[in-house]
Formats: sequence, C-alpha cells, structure tokens
Amino acid sequence: MINAILIERDPPPYRASLTKIDESQLSAGDVTVRVEYSTLNYKDALAITGKAPVVRQFPMVPGIDFAGTVEHSSNPSYKSGDKVLLNGWGVGESHWGGLSQLARIKADWLIPLPAALTARQAMAVGTAGYTAMLSVMALERHGIRPGDGEILVTGAAGGVGSVAVALLSKLGFRVAAMTGRPAESEFLKQLGAAEILDRAPFAGAGKPLAKERWAGAIDVVGSHTLANVCASLRYGGVVAACGLAGGMDFPATVAPFILRGITLAGIDSVMRPRPDRVEAWRRLSKDLEVKKLELLADEISLAEALERAGSLLEGRVRGRIIVDVNR
Ligand code: NDP
Repeated sequence: MINAILIERDPPPYRASLTKIDESQLSAGDVTVRVEYSTLNYKDALAITGKAPVVRQFPMVPGIDFAGTVEHSSNPSYKSGDKVLLNGWGVGESHWGGLSQLARIKADWLIPLPAALTARQAMAVGTAGYTAMLSVMALERHGIRPGDGEILVTGAAGGVGSVAVALLSKLGFRVAAMTGRPAESEFLKQLGAAEILDRAPFAGAGKPLAKERWAGAIDVVGSHTLANVCASLRYGGVVAACGLAGGMDFPATVAPFILRGITLAGIDSVMRPRPDRVEAWRRLSKDLEVKKLELLADEISLAEALERAGSLLEGRVRGRIIVDVNR
C-alpha cells in the first residue's frame, strides 16, 4: 500500500483526503515511477478544493507533475533507475497523478530529468515554472530581445510569475513585476525585478490604447489585466498569455492589434509537443539560478498539500510549493 491524496465524489460530497491505495489501483501505463517530489500548482488546488471542474474521472489522484525514479518499465525508452519528470498530459485530471508515492504512466509522457537538476529542484520549477519558460520562449520566438525594452510580469509573486521574473532577469531583461502584495516587493527584487507595480490600476476596464510601456509581457491573470497589458504594449510588442487567475474573460478591443501590431501568444503547457518540453527543461536547467530556485520554493508534506490548496487559490502562496510525497 502507498500513500496518496485521493479525490472522491461518488457518493457526494466532493472530498479530497490522504489515504492508502494499492499499486494495482493505479492508472494504466507502461512505466511505474517511484515519485520523489510533486508540487502544488494552481490546477492541483482547483482539483483538491473542487472549485473548478478540472477532475474528469473519479476517484482521482491529483498532481499534474512529478519527478522521481523509474521502478518498472515495459517500454524500451526507460529502464529501472532512470530519473524522469512529468508535466501535464491530463495527469491529475483524467489519469492518476503525482500526489502519490507511485505513479503509473505512459512512457511517451515522460521526459528524462535534466542532468543539472535534482528531482527536488525540478519540482521547485514544476509545471508553473515550465510554463514560465514556455512563455519566455514565446517572447523570444517573436523576436523580443533584452535591448527592446522592459518586460512586464503579472501575478509576479505567484508560481508562474516568480519563475518568470527569475528567468527574465537572468537573461538580461529589465523586469517590471506586477503584484497585489506590496509586502513581497523585497522577494521580487531578490528574484531580479527592477520595478514593482501595483496590480490594482490594471484590474478594471481601461482605455483601448494606453501609454506605450512594455516591449513584452507574461500574463497569468487574464480578464481586464490582460486587456490593459495589451493596451500598454509598445509598438510591435508581444504578450504571452498563460493564465486566468483574475478571470477567464478577455474584455479587450482590437485597437492595439491593428494600430500597434502587437501579438498575443497563447501558452498551453498540458498538450505541448515533446520537442518544446525537452527544450524548455533544457533551458530551465541552464537559465535559472539555483539560489533563486531555493528562494522561491517552500516544501510541504502530502497532508499539508490538502491544507494549502485553499490559500493558493486565494493568492496567498508566495512562489512555488514542492510536495515531498514520502513524508
Ligand atoms: P499562483 O496562485 O501561484 O499565482 C497566481 C498569482 O496571480 C497570485 O499569486 C497573484 O499574484 C495573482 N492573482 C491571483 N488572483 C488575482 C486576481 N483576482 N487578480 C489579479 N491577480 C491575481 O498560480 P500559478 O502562478 O501557478 O498559475 C497562474 C495561472 O496560470 C493560473 O491561472 C493557472 O491556471 C495558469 N497556468 C496555466 C498553465 C498553462 O498551461 N497555460 C500552466 C500553469 C498555470 P500577486 O499576489 O503577485 O498579485
């Protein structure tokens, strides 16, 4: 028997608890991984609390990412003892996930753990940090370079935002970090932010076009914030939109698109093709300073993941949460 978080709904109520499961109950797959660390992402918090219908089958073990060691494999790509990591592919939503001491998974979904990262460091990055890297890569693919001007990061004190600030500053960009938590200003400066902005002025309906300020942006908030970011990008600017922490809507006009030629680049991490994943993790192992990774990550136990889910959705968690599934 192994320890895992299990989400059940039938019969109601919807509930998540720390429980024992049998290895034979795990989802189908050709590789069984002894999980070392998982994390608590925004989507995991939604699954645990039931605040949004991210779980597609019940019962479900949540955990959209994990890192660990292959225990058994019937696929020639992996052998016992290989270090691996996983993000997305519906794991923790429709396939049992990483908030468990073991996970059985399809080999195609795994990628080798980069040699420069430990399992714990990879999960300090987690899906949030991997999404931050995909967002930075999107800005680069659209030609944004450090000399072009300042980059805005919204939701900066959260998981995606904090890793984005650390990555962009290491790459030589001047970073403006937008937050609703002025108490985290010092933390954001330690990660590399050059400027701290209050999120309140961006939260309501703004003008179709505002003063041109940023060469690029990474937005985790959506709704009016994303619309106002678009309105204040410089001519030819690019915003990578990856989140909906402030709302799923997008109340914008086409003005910045047709008058300033801005680009809105959508970021999906879940179904991302493998070459991009491998490249994102290669870049993360190179472009993220380990001391900043330590600064932005907090470690908790499997039981504590249940308690922290609510505070994460309320925007009260700073940076990233690593879950040690073996304690
Ligand atoms: P966190 O909860 O760690 O961070 C979100 C941050 O957004 C908060 O810390 C807060 O930052 C800010 N925020 C929260 N609520 C509001 C609000 N109502 N208005 C404005 N700002 C708000 O989550 P993550 O960073 O892990 O994820 C961020 C978003 O990205 C989520 O919506 C998540 O679903 C999405 N995501 C998408 C992925 C993809 O594949 N596209 C993958 C991973 C995440 P502050 O206090 O600094 O203002």
